[in-house]
Amino acid sequence: MHELSIAQRLIELALEHIESHPGSRVGRLHVRLGALSCLQPHALRSSFEMAAQGSQLDGAELEIELVPLLLYCDRCNQDVEPHSLKAMICPECGLASNAIRGGRELDLDWIELFESADKTMATEDKGDRDDAIP
Ligand SMILES: [Zn+2]
Repeated sequence: MHELSIAQRLIELALEHIESHPGSRVGRLHVRLGALSCLQPHALRSSFEMAAQGSQLDGAELEIELVPLLLYCDRCNQDVEPHSLKAMICPECGLASNAIRGGRELDLDWIELFESADKTMATEDKGDRDDAIP
């Protein structure tokens, strides 16, 4: 998957979200990114900033929470975090496991909205501001 198409999808979702909250703008987007998603956080962030330019999301902040790979170990009877993405083995007992419990996430967790108080939403203003964009 390409970071840019993911970024564009995030922006679509956020735009849909503010459509149902007229007069608001997006402050932050919180995304959970699994270790197995194969996306580079910095590439996702810069793609997001690029794709957001000129849209209602311009200036919104993308927060990325990295989710580690978690495997379920039969022998230890718990979720464990392997030392490497390449070796799917329990760090406690060395047993191999294919039971992935975490790390595939690519979720938009939450969106923070602000009441619009700046120029970017001037069209929503009631005309009581001097600095509205004509
Ligand atoms: Zn184990």
